[in-house]
Amino acid sequence: MNAKSFLNYLENLRQEYLTNNPGEVASYIPELLKVDADWLGISVVTVDGHVYQVGDSKQDFTIQSISKVITYGMALEDKGVTAVLEKVDVEPSGEAFNSISLEPGTGRPRNPMINAGAIATVSLLADGNAQDKLKRMLDVYQSYVGHPVRVDEDVYRSEKETGHRNRAIGYMLRNYDIIEKDTDDVLDLYFKQCSILVTCRDLALIGATLANNGVNPITGIRALNKEYVPNVLGVMSSCGMYDYSGAWIYNVGMPAKSGVGGGVVAVLPGQLSIAVFSPKLDDKGNSFRGIEICKRISKDFGLHLFHSSQSTVSTVIHARYSGASIRSKRYRIPEQAKLLNELGNKVMVFELAGDLMFTSMEIALSEAEHNFNLLRYLVLDFRRVTSINTGAIHLLVDFIYLSYEQGIAVILTNASEKFLLTNAIKKQIPNYKELQLLHHNDIDVALEWCEESLLSGHATINQTSVALADMVLCEGFTEAEISSLQHVLDKRNYNAGANICSEGEPADSLYFVVSGEVEVVFAAIA
Ligand code: GLU
Repeated sequence: MNAKSFLNYLENLRQEYLTNNPGEVASYIPELLKVDADWLGISVVTVDGHVYQVGDSKQDFTIQSISKVITYGMALEDKGVTAVLEKVDVEPSGEAFNSISLEPGTGRPRNPMINAGAIATVSLLADGNAQDKLKRMLDVYQSYVGHPVRVDEDVYRSEKETGHRNRAIGYMLRNYDIIEKDTDDVLDLYFKQCSILVTCRDLALIGATLANNGVNPITGIRALNKEYVPNVLGVMSSCGMYDYSGAWIYNVGMPAKSGVGGGVVAVLPGQLSIAVFSPKLDDKGNSFRGIEICKRISKDFGLHLFHSSQSTVSTVIHARYSGASIRSKRYRIPEQAKLLNELGNKVMVFELAGDLMFTSMEIALSEAEHNFNLLRYLVLDFRRVTSINTGAIHLLVDFIYLSYEQGIAVILTNASEKFLLTNAIKKQIPNYKELQLLHHNDIDVALEWCEESLLSGHATINQTSVALADMVLCEGFTEAEISSLQHVLDKRNYNAGANICSEGEPADSLYFVVSGEVEVVFAAIA
């Protein structure tokens, strides 16, 4: 499907749900009632930064509970995982968002996605005065969404005036020393974070930033330390949809968060994010159409996280051949060719393909290991590799060490632009140059080097000179023809490294190489 047809798909989906709009707009915060209950926006943003949006995707609304995701990431950055876990657990509560669900004895909230956990999380943010803290929060939002955001003062006031239950939760947390600061200040910042205005597109960008390991895919600005992205997505997937979280991950299969303002954002790590804005909520406090539309998109495009495609030997190894079946382009005299036919099995080329991660790399390397008893040279080609992650690199580096221990030289070709890989090799295999690991960037050059190494053990063959009659060009010549050709030729000797003919010089001579080696080099024009 191309980009335009995906946009059509989203538009058709929106049309389908225009009149299918059950549920109620949240009313416990009176100001939230001031919306058009029919608003419906859908936005999808990919990790390549492609934005698809239909309907009311530019309409401002308050982020509400979805803010908990961003604050949790900030607290992890400020205090680290251990300190945050001491104050807020990560177990699904199975209860409503505003439940006073605290661990008996310690008073620790069950998770940071319910109000109790979110209020405790606010208290974990780095110190500063109220103004500085809010400013920093708004700056972090800006890195996620790519533009400045602001608090809706009316919603904030409305929340503050009516937020008795949240205040009760806050004081309960203070009683257990989960909150160690001024509870009113913590609550005030919590009310403000819930009242930040976003659009559906903004929500999708927040999701896409998380899908993209914490970097906004359009601006390239990092919003969250990569180290904490799995923690944030992890808690979203188990606790993000209130007491519907289990059914959500079962049906839709993506970490997600919803808010009583009508927003829902779902994240497919490494791929995309879906956001829906529709203010009417179901009885669990989730946007009714938000849930239905995410379910549909996930189902129609097979986006469920556990719906993974499996790597097989044939998807990871595009081609494999031995040095006996495919030789380098270098001309070989018959004796050399014969020897290479015999020894070529000691060279093996694996052309790898696709996204290399732990499992796909493991498949390729165990295939290679099956041939270990035969091998002396293994060429791994990366031309068709689209990505390679740290798990795959870890396996590969260990494999390279093991291979060398067993007397097998590994050569990586077409790898020079796989920077994650080459940097790791340079760091973890300090003698990579000596081993010629990254030295031959092209399969043909690598094959030639392997052939030379194989032949070098057979010096007599290297020194053999070839008779004129055995030259390929002289095939089919009679003895008399050979002899008259011999007559017009003269013998020339060149020292190693000497130049025979340069580009631009008249090509007025025919050379037969009777011994030694000649190289043809096309120099790049500076
Ligand atoms: N500000 C809302 C509250 O604290 C957020 C709840 C939500 O979106 O789930 O009640």
